Amino acid sequence: MAFRNKKFTPRKKFCRFCADKAMPLDYKRPDILRDYITERGKIIARRITGTCARHQRQLTTEIKRARQMALLFYTTVHSTDVKKRTL
Ligand SMILES: [Zn+2]
Repeated sequence: MAFRNKKFTPRKKFCRFCADKAMPLDYKRPDILRDYITERGKIIARRITGTCARHQRQLTTEIKRARQMALLFYTTVHSTDVKKRTL
């Protein structure tokens, strides 16, 4: 009841990677990985995204890999628009 968070669009929870086998879970697809991190660069918990345990584990690895390849940012400090706001 008190569990209504308007931050996320209320959609049915399911693992997107299980539902769509063609969905690449890869560090080379930061556009997809970005759905699973907050604007501050944190990985969103499984209970929120609905990703299954197996895929969440893979997702974590791929996000970390993507960060290393500079495809994703670690913190907002690296994000240019936030930097402008704080300066
Ligand atoms: Zn899955």
